[in-house]
Amino acid sequence: MERVEQKKPSRCAAGPFTSASLREALSVIRMMVASCYGPYGRLKQIHNGSGGGVTTTSQSMALLGGMSLSHPALQLLVASIRNHISTFSDCGLFAAILCCSLIDRCQSLPVSTHKVIKLNKRLLDTSLSYLKSEDCACKIEVDFTHSKSILDFTRSVLRSKPACMMTVKEVDYMSLLIVKAFLHKVPDESCPSHLLGRTLFVTVEGPSVMESAFIPGVLIEEPAWSRVRPSSSLLSTNIKLALFSLSLCGELGDTGEGTMEVMVGVDPENVMLDQLIVLGKRLVDDHVQMVLCQKVIHPSLKQYLKEHGVLTVDRLGAALMEPLSQMTGAQPIASLCPVSQVSYGSLKQISKASYGNKHYLHLLPSDTTVCSIVLCNRNETSVKELTRTCQTAEHTLNLLLKDPWLLLGGGCTEAHIAAYIRYKSSIIHRSHLEDLRCTASEYKLVADCFCSSLEAVARSSEHDGGETLTDLQDGHVWSMPPEVSVDGEQTEAVHTCGCQLLQRRDGLKWSVLGSPSEPFSPRNRTEISPLLLAKEPLVLDSLTAKCNGIRVAVDTASLILDLAYIVKDEN
Ligand SMILES: [Zn+2]
Repeated sequence: MERVEQKKPSRCAAGPFTSASLREALSVIRMMVASCYGPYGRLKQIHNGSGGGVTTTSQSMALLGGMSLSHPALQLLVASIRNHISTFSDCGLFAAILCCSLIDRCQSLPVSTHKVIKLNKRLLDTSLSYLKSEDCACKIEVDFTHSKSILDFTRSVLRSKPACMMTVKEVDYMSLLIVKAFLHKVPDESCPSHLLGRTLFVTVEGPSVMESAFIPGVLIEEPAWSRVRPSSSLLSTNIKLALFSLSLCGELGDTGEGTMEVMVGVDPENVMLDQLIVLGKRLVDDHVQMVLCQKVIHPSLKQYLKEHGVLTVDRLGAALMEPLSQMTGAQPIASLCPVSQVSYGSLKQISKASYGNKHYLHLLPSDTTVCSIVLCNRNETSVKELTRTCQTAEHTLNLLLKDPWLLLGGGCTEAHIAAYIRYKSSIIHRSHLEDLRCTASEYKLVADCFCSSLEAVARSSEHDGGETLTDLQDGHVWSMPPEVSVDGEQTEAVHTCGCQLLQRRDGLKWSVLGSPSEPFSPRNRTEISPLLLAKEPLVLDSLTAKCNGIRVAVDTASLILDLAYIVKDEN
């Protein structure tokens, strides 16, 4: 008997939404996210109250994915940032810090929320059009004929995650592997498909990072209890293979809502097994040498195929199906009906490989853009963080194919844009203010708030109590060691800016980042260009990911500032 409960009416909680509780909750999340930011970011351990594993990370997706939040505004904020990360991989912490700082600062402005949102939108447009313009002095074009910029960028991503626990040499080595895999999967003109290849990550816990490797093709882990031994004939070239996406275990399929009638004297399992053996005969007649199956292969079919010299590997899982199909040209077979010749694929070679205490079958195709990176690291925590970080680097490199530009990192871009916006705001024409229907003082207040929020992100990578300075020529950031006082001429303690592009020189004027100073026009691209050719390794960010990160931060902040009511259905 079903119990029917009376439906409760929806509960409508009315504002004010911009209460102290939101500010307090935002402040906690901002401090937590900001403390993870940059190469010296502090790690976080994520525990689940009901048990399960513990994650040690400073990576945005792992951090935000592991939180359960009760405040609706924070749920909205985290959902927006996670959505950004799932598409762009990088700049998740950046977007979260910027969004929290913007909300916090805008809440206390003596300007109506409607105007704040409108002006923030305008400032966002100004920032993005500057970043995309020819004049932008904080971006560099990727030259694919040289690997310097993409190596610098990959190194910047890997260096920013201390839980990977890598030395400088290990970071350089891993960066090389990732760039190699990236270049390998870009199809050249001779490739008929013009499809971007894939990089698969295989993780091994125990060996040092320096034992990680780049391998063309796919590695399939062999379960310890069933070592597959490729016979010598399989080591020949041009191995014919069949790839099954359906289960070959002989069980009757799910009939769903329907029913199945079985005639008296017929054993359905035997009928299925007969069908499998018919399939096996067909594969042997077609000279198939290898059968790969996403699910389970019946032991009798396995035995039959083995007797006929066919190598079988089952339980591959869904994730390997597409890369295997792309790499071998095989079409995944989804039924027991007679297999078409065109479904078969081919491999150049099969061999065995071992990393740590794991054993693999190495499937090497004749001509492919699919490759694997074996990621080794000393313990579970470091290998997991290394995997997340390498996936971010690999995904963000893909974005360069569409938009081949990188931004100066280390906080320099944020501080530079803030300097640019402050200068543009100081000379804004009255007609623009009339269009925006605001006064000059209102515009200045909101612009200051926008710039301070960007500068707050730039300051977030300093975790040891040191001061962050900016130069009054290019608006880059310079970190002062904690023991050095900013008073007087102590700037000799700083040598290079955050992105490593600029060197300290006499006569350069300084200011503490975020402190009031006279607006100045940062030098433009033409003046900076010769420096961009310098040989120093630069700290670089993805332009595509950062532009979207700024947009998501400002849009989400506007949405949260505009919230007035929470309607909560408690049914
Ligand atoms: Zn810089």
